[in-house]
Amino acid sequence: MTSGGGRLVLVGTPIGNLSDLSPRAVQALTEADVIACEDTRVTRKLLSHAGITGHRLIAVHEHNEAASAARLVGLGAEGQTIAVVSDAGMPGISDPGERLVTAAVEAGLPVEVVPGPSAAIMALVLSGLPADRFCFEGFLPRKGGERKRRLAAIAAETRTTVVFEAPHRVAALVLELGSACGADRPVAVARELTKIYEEVWRGTLGEAVAWLDQKEPRGEYVLVIGGAPPVAVDDAAIELALERRLAAGDARRSAVDAVAADLDVPRRRVYEAALRLKT
Ligand code: SAM
Repeated sequence: MTSGGGRLVLVGTPIGNLSDLSPRAVQALTEADVIACEDTRVTRKLLSHAGITGHRLIAVHEHNEAASAARLVGLGAEGQTIAVVSDAGMPGISDPGERLVTAAVEAGLPVEVVPGPSAAIMALVLSGLPADRFCFEGFLPRKGGERKRRLAAIAAETRTTVVFEAPHRVAALVLELGSACGADRPVAVARELTKIYEEVWRGTLGEAVAWLDQKEPRGEYVLVIGGAPPVAVDDAAIELALERRLAAGDARRSAVDAVAADLDVPRRRVYEAALRLKT
């Protein structure tokens, strides 16, 4: 397909403080022929705050994203510029956007992003927990086996995990996380980010249960859960892993590299184990 100048532009919007709408976001929204949004009333408010008027808005939500994607990509193919916003934050992050991008990519329509705030990244940075490697879990499934599996995965995860939750379910989730990960696991509870009552509480999951118990859940929450302490790897485990790799035909050098990566241990330690095996 030739897009004839048409493109899909995902535009990040504020998560509470309207001053976070960037000049580039305003420009992208102003220049768009069509604005795809979740709730047209929410987006109209944002547009009127930015002094942007007269745009055609098309509602795209969880339930019609697949069908809307084909229609919007069709408009792009006619040369129109489609801006995509969600009610707040980055489209595609626990919000519609991903299917639109997939459809555009498949159709050869150029895709751009005008980045803006995301509650996940803001909470991660504010948490003070390691942010060099992290996982984003979005909203956990409400119940059932899949929820249990995800809780178990968070319990075993050594990276920091970021989770979204609705206010009336936060206390229950923290209780479940405490059972799965242990009461001592560090957590940060970030609420109402960029808004008047912005608050970040830091402690352990056990303490968070007590803290949340004292107050009425209000506003929007993000939980940032510290990673599980890394499991100590003993020398015997390193040697066994090396022996398996070598028996499978790996060269010594690549076996050392692979075991160091697989077991997350320094290469030097694996190299020394390889020397011991040789002797
Ligand atoms: N796409 C959005 C983003 O990038 O931030 C997230 C949308 S998701 C449907 C909504 C969830 O994000 C909320 O339930 C809450 O967990 C989190 N959230 C959004 N805005 C927030 C804020 N100002 N403070 C804390 N959490 C927020």
